[in-house]
Order: sequence, then structure tokens, then C-alpha cells
Amino acid sequence: MQVNDVEIIISAVRAEQYPETGLPEIAFVGRSNVGKSSLINTLLKRNKVARTSSVPGKTQTINFYRLNQDLHFVDVPGFGYAKVSKADRAKFATMIEQYLQTRKQLAGVVQLVDGRREPTELDESMYQYLKYYEVPTLVVSTKIDKVKKNQWNKTESQARKGLHLNAATPWIPFSSQTKVGYDEVWAWIEQQCGL
Ligand code: GDP
Repeated sequence: MQVNDVEIIISAVRAEQYPETGLPEIAFVGRSNVGKSSLINTLLKRNKVARTSSVPGKTQTINFYRLNQDLHFVDVPGFGYAKVSKADRAKFATMIEQYLQTRKQLAGVVQLVDGRREPTELDESMYQYLKYYEVPTLVVSTKIDKVKKNQWNKTESQARKGLHLNAATPWIPFSSQTKVGYDEVWAWIEQQCGL
């Protein structure tokens, strides 16, 4: 997709702040440091739209970006950062859950897992949660440039096994450095949004 115009609409802390344009939305979720900002910036062909805060996981806002007049990207900040207090984590989990459960125009979620590692329990809970609420999900293994190409099959089976992926859930290897996976991720997004 040709993205001519990107605007951050709001960094929301409450549901009342979510934009009401009704545009279809694609949300991005994953553990802190998984490569989410890099993936979003790569998809937008821009360097600094999505930014990791200096303390990962600390900025607990849901960021809405408008792409042309076509769709929103929704950057759900990384979960699982150890230094965030338990109380903050619980508050944050509630905010994400509320968003995922109630957002009518949510067209799909891109869930990122680190391609170099086995998925964690938190990754699995996230995926199972999305499955339970029947949110169309794409699983992306990030930093795939760090994995030899003949090991990508193994990366896929690790992701499928570790998350207990539904066979129908697509999986795409991605690298923000080599841009591998760029076309495939965009194709999925466009399909979900009916673009
Ligand atoms: P976020 O916390 O999930 O938003 O992660 P970032 O996008 O900020 O990336 C976290 C770290 O992983 C940074 O040091 C990035 O340079 C690195 N990183 C992100 N994507 C890739 C990738 O595709 N390949 C490699 N080798 N490193 C990456």
C-alpha cells in the first residue's frame, strides 16, 4: 500500500479517547523489545513514527495512527517488561483487554514474537486470548535476519507449537533490516481491512 500520509491521532490512556472515525484498525502486540516499533516504522517507510520509550514498557498508552484516510495502526505498548510494577502491569492488561474486547472496527491483530527465541508463556497467553475473542490474528516472527534461512521452518514450528497456533493462523517471518516479509504483512493487513 502507498502510505502518503501518517498522522498520530492520540496516545490514549482511556477508552473515551479512542478515535471515532470508524476506520478499520490493525493493532500490533508483542513483548517489549520484540521489534514492534521497527516493524511499524518499516511498514510505514518512516524512521521515527513509532518510538520505543527509553524505559521499555513504561509508556502505557495505546497509540493510534491514521494512514491516509484508509485505516488506523494501533500500537499497543510492549507487555512483559520486568521493571514495570505489578499494579501498573495489571492496569495495563485491563486497558489492552478492554481495547481488544470492545473495539468494533478492529480488523486484525499482528502479534510479534522474537524469531530468535522460543515463544514465552506471556506470548502464548496473548495469542490464546486473541483466539478466545476470535480476533483475526497474524503471527510474525521478528529479527529473522538473525536466523539462517534453512532454520526458518524450525522457527515456524517453534512458534506454532509454543503458541499453540490454530492451523489456519498465518505466520510470516519478518526483518526490519532486510525488509523480508514486508509485502506479505501488508497483503494480510489490506485483506483484513478490505483495501
Ligand atoms: P519494541 O520495543 O518492540 O518496539 O522494539 P524495537 O523496534 O525498539 O527494537 C528493539 C531492538 O531490536 C532494537 O535494538 C532494534 O534495533 C532491534 N531490532 C528490531 N527489529 C530488528 C530486526 O528486524 N533485526 C534485527 N537484527 N534487530 C532488530
